[in-house]
Amino acid sequence: MPAKVAIIGSGISGISAAHKLIANNCAVTIFDQGKNPGGRLGLRSLRNSPFVNRPVDVGAAYFTISDSVFQEKVDQWQSLNLIHKWTDTFHVFNDYEITTTTGPMRYGTKNGLRSLAIHELAELTKLGVKVLQERKIEKVISNLNSVMVDIEEFDAVVLAMPGIQAARILENDEIANQLNKQNWASALSAWFVIDSDTPKYDAMFVNNHEVVSLIINDGKRRGDNAPVINVITNSTYAKERLENFANYLDEVVDHALEIWNIQSEVVEKGITRWSIAQPSPSVRIDLPSNMAIVGDAYSDNPRIESAWLDGVAVLNQLQVLN
Ligand SMILES: Cc1cc2nc3c(=O)[nH]c(=O)nc-3n(C[C@H](O)[C@H](O)[C@H](O)COP(=O)(O)OP(=O)(O)OC[C@H]3O[C@@H](n4cnc5c(N)ncnc54)[C@H](O)[C@@H]3O)c2cc1C
Repeated sequence: MPAKVAIIGSGISGISAAHKLIANNCAVTIFDQGKNPGGRLGLRSLRNSPFVNRPVDVGAAYFTISDSVFQEKVDQWQSLNLIHKWTDTFHVFNDYEITTTTGPMRYGTKNGLRSLAIHELAELTKLGVKVLQERKIEKVISNLNSVMVDIEEFDAVVLAMPGIQAARILENDEIANQLNKQNWASALSAWFVIDSDTPKYDAMFVNNHEVVSLIINDGKRRGDNAPVINVITNSTYAKERLENFANYLDEVVDHALEIWNIQSEVVEKGITRWSIAQPSPSVRIDLPSNMAIVGDAYSDNPRIESAWLDGVAVLNQLQVLN
């Protein structure tokens, strides 16, 4: 009988863990509380003509590659035309002075980063993985020979989510308390459409600003040059406004307009919140041999790539399967 493994979380780390487990002959079920898969690969659709239903990334902004294992996956996405190279050069705003900085190649997608999760889950479904969205797990209990995921019994469980989310569903208080020590930044993410040509910048890191940390030209990121902009706030600003975040839409957009010196009319805008956005690097704690936790937090450089790689390494934790 194949080992029966539950993965809780259909974000990028849960997806890569599912690939690893199915390749090792496990029977895999993925549960996710969200209506849509992909977790922090957040997406919104524009409402107004001429951009009705055009997607905007409002979570992760782009991904980069430094490891050959992730490069292999990216090569597959590229061969399927799901992604494209965007830019290696961002502008930097620092006390009203604007410079540029060149770093690794940033990759974007035509249909939003979430489209990668949708693609991967379709592939996993073909391989026999059961994918259940809108299934919020309330309780995980590890016993000697099995794990209870709500009322269903599994041989092992993978918590593919931020530690502070995992802490909410674990019955073991000692483990939950340790996971609750993880430190997570928050963010508000706003988007808006202007009534003119797309601005000249690809993206701008905004340093030492009381509100904004990153402004992205979504038209350039997506490659259609639509005048759509995404603004991400800093964590301090976001944490104080998570509850009434919608009230701060105008303020966030106005700051981005000022920084990019945009005079045109804003014809559509919206905002979302990420109370759990990005982790400080965390130490992985000891878990029972039938339980693993994966995600972006267990790396010096938390991001999409590190979440993918952590999922790939899931078997290092699941001693019960070895
Ligand atoms: C605003 C923002 C900007 C970012 N920018 C970048 C960037 O530019 N580049 C980059 O590389 N990374 C960026 N990131 C980080 C990137 O999004 C993450 O590293 C990556 O998506 C993490 O994937 P994950 O699978 O580990 O976790 P997640 O994507 O958080 O997935 C966890 C999943 O678990 C599910 N879940 C949680 N609890 C339960 C439960 N009880 N029952 C069922 N399901 C549950 C959630 O619904 C979610 O789908 C950004 C993130 C944010 C929020």
